[in-house]
Amino acid sequence: MARARELFPGGVNSPVRAFRGVGGEPIVAERGEGARIWDADGKEYIDFVLSWGPLVLGHASPIVLEAVANAMQRGTSFGMPTELEVQLGELIRQRMPHVEMMRFVSSGTEATMSAVRLARAFTGRDAILKFEGCYHGHADSFLVKAGSGVATLGLPDSPGVPAALAALTLTAPFNDLDAATDLAAQNKKGIAAIIVEPVVGNSGFIPPEPGFLEGLRKLADSSGALLIFDEVMTGFRIAPGGAKERFGVTADLTTLGKVIGGGLPAAAYGGRREIMERVAPSGPVYQAGTLSGNPLAMAAGLATLTTLTPELHSRIEKRTAALVEGLQMIARELNVPLTAGHAGSMWGFFFTSKPARNFMEAKASDVELFRRFFHAALDRGVYLAPSPFEACFMSAAHGDAEVATTLERLRGALEQAIA
Ligand code: PMP
Repeated sequence: MARARELFPGGVNSPVRAFRGVGGEPIVAERGEGARIWDADGKEYIDFVLSWGPLVLGHASPIVLEAVANAMQRGTSFGMPTELEVQLGELIRQRMPHVEMMRFVSSGTEATMSAVRLARAFTGRDAILKFEGCYHGHADSFLVKAGSGVATLGLPDSPGVPAALAALTLTAPFNDLDAATDLAAQNKKGIAAIIVEPVVGNSGFIPPEPGFLEGLRKLADSSGALLIFDEVMTGFRIAPGGAKERFGVTADLTTLGKVIGGGLPAAAYGGRREIMERVAPSGPVYQAGTLSGNPLAMAAGLATLTTLTPELHSRIEKRTAALVEGLQMIARELNVPLTAGHAGSMWGFFFTSKPARNFMEAKASDVELFRRFFHAALDRGVYLAPSPFEACFMSAAHGDAEVATTLERLRGALEQAIA
């Protein structure tokens, strides 16, 4: 890390990795296998971060490795159409039929940035509406009340974002339909897009209240805005078919990332054909990428999604529920106020007695206790997300034995944290 700090700001290549949210020195990854990682000092951890979500089959899944190796033998990049990207695209559309057409990109940031550009072009409007504590990547328009990394660092906005652009990003509290409706009504020139994480993972884990997503759909329809579900994190995590399957609400545009690349860089934006047809070269909205649809990433995503059947999804979900219930029980027994939840294989908790409905309530949780708990868990070989405002994940490699071992370790960690 000392050498890394000479090279990279904060010693890292993405801010949350620096452990500023919990203090102390980050662990340096050496290798991973299944549910486990080993750090550079040889210490073993059960991993619930899973590269921040992509590794739904666990680390170094033999299925993914084999698919990548096979693809690699034929070349690592072409900058040409390949059959692999068609196969992955068809599989995504089969699971998410409302994603009629899509475009592959290489990061979630690119996906959301491009989706908003497209929404602006399609509606002829400039303003967007987002929710406090939702993170949609680091494009300029989104670095307004952006949750997790930004919040952990205590930077409400980022310098370098032109004020004129930030002024076009309106923000309402998550789960507050009235606030969103008021903002839409006040904005005379109209809103191009309402963008939301259907289940928030970037202010900690916060599910939508019944009616909230349905209300946003209605608001988008009545105001002429496009509804964008940012499913970079929730896609193929909260249900086999994402938010539409789980909540029955259909977005106009959907952004995907993480799981669809199976641990390699791949992301996508897509949705209704008439909207996607506006993207170049079919239409005039420019967007491009040298490594977009990269064959290794497509192969990893294809192997991951093919393996992640609805049956496997529900098996992971059951174990996630067991973990979350176990953690709640431990907290009750130790008299620690804790609320926890999960959606599919995504989960999280706050040290608070009432479930947090939005980022403000999440920030009112006991963050100091989280920090002590995080480090006590880390000492015992459990790697939780290193910030009170990040979701955790599970993988197919986390079996009943890993859940039991984790709960035993977390009990010890919580006892230490409150001592
Ligand atoms: N949207 C959401 C909901 C995310 O969680 C993230 C990343 N955590 C992004 C967008 C940005 O993705 P990337 O880091 O691949 O740019």
